[in-house]
Amino acid sequence: MENLVFVINCGSSSIKFQLIEPNSQQIHLKGLAENLDSDRCRIKSGDQEINLPNQNYDGVLKEILRLITPFEDKVCAIGHRVVHGGEYFYSSMIIDDEVLSKIKKCAHLAPLHNPVNAKGIEALLKRFPKILNVAVFDTAFHMSMPNHAYLYALPIKFYKENQIRRYGFHGTSHRFISEQATKLLPDHSKLIIAHLGNGSSVCAVKDGKSVDTSMGFTPLEGLVMGTRSGDLDPSILTYLSKELNISAEEALTICNSKSGLLGISEISSDMRLLEEKAIQKDPQAMLAIEMFCYRLAKYIASYTVPLKGCDGLIFTGGIGENSHFIRSKVINYLPNFSIDEKIHEKLKRGASGIISSLSSPHIAVIPTNEELMIAQDALKLKAAI
Ligand code: ADP
Repeated sequence: MENLVFVINCGSSSIKFQLIEPNSQQIHLKGLAENLDSDRCRIKSGDQEINLPNQNYDGVLKEILRLITPFEDKVCAIGHRVVHGGEYFYSSMIIDDEVLSKIKKCAHLAPLHNPVNAKGIEALLKRFPKILNVAVFDTAFHMSMPNHAYLYALPIKFYKENQIRRYGFHGTSHRFISEQATKLLPDHSKLIIAHLGNGSSVCAVKDGKSVDTSMGFTPLEGLVMGTRSGDLDPSILTYLSKELNISAEEALTICNSKSGLLGISEISSDMRLLEEKAIQKDPQAMLAIEMFCYRLAKYIASYTVPLKGCDGLIFTGGIGENSHFIRSKVINYLPNFSIDEKIHEKLKRGASGIISSLSSPHIAVIPTNEELMIAQDALKLKAAI
């Protein structure tokens, strides 16, 4: 067990961490720190619950580092999830001063995430100066998109001078799934991956490379999500801000945090709960689900354009992996795709499997594992030194 990788995901108000042995995929420690900076701040790891009322980011990080101290001699690398790599990073990187400085330079593109990602990196570099630290970027996988896919039809100077373009997110998950798909669907070169969780995105993958994806300059673009509206006419923002006498920032918060499944259903952003309400014929839950599935099906159909066809559609993420109901509803919108209901019924929750009735395009479910992908990248970069 010398090849442990410590994977850390420093979010805006939570920190997730895992100690993984990437080859055996064994997890030695797993935890979540949540409600940072509040009286409910705590770390949960296995049976342990450590209450840290009103503890700030630095204090919580210190406590997490204390938890991994017993494993210190066995940790060969540390993998950091970093949200935004801008146009600097096309793959995972060993962190040195230059890489860290570029991560900080991307802070204007992801102000809630990159500064805390950098904070986590600095804390770990300081505490474990001899262990290799690796950054794995959410955006890197999508750097292979062609310019006609990643540019907005705005004056081009806004791309050249202000870096406004589509970056895409969930790249680590889409890359993991496209690699796993080579085992389940060998010789399938035109894949559409639907990552459906609290945040959701679709990605068109040609020969293992992302050629288009639904999230854009920020994760707001694209699908209907838990609390995000997805695609909108941007005029709505100025209209809302005038009508409600609120700032543009406040109007944007409505689109990010109060919309999507939550905004339409006025019940919850949680798909499981909405499915229960839909079964009881709650009209707003039914509408929210219909909008979610309809938008997703439109995106899937449109990705046959960059792929010039499609030979595999893969569902992943909490909803994609677990919900028969949503998968069936989405497929019902798509004339060229068909599910074998008997196989579909039999597929266990959280398991991989092909569920299509046609030999092409295949439809499959593959559970994602971003932490494992980060650990594998860290180990690969360590081995290459
Ligand atoms: P995140 O994007 O935060 O990683 P997840 O990938 O864990 O989120 O997905 C969370 C979503 O998955 C929630 O909407 C949850 O209700 C949904 N989900 C989980 N299990 C099921 C299920 N059995 N049926 C329907 N939805 C589910």
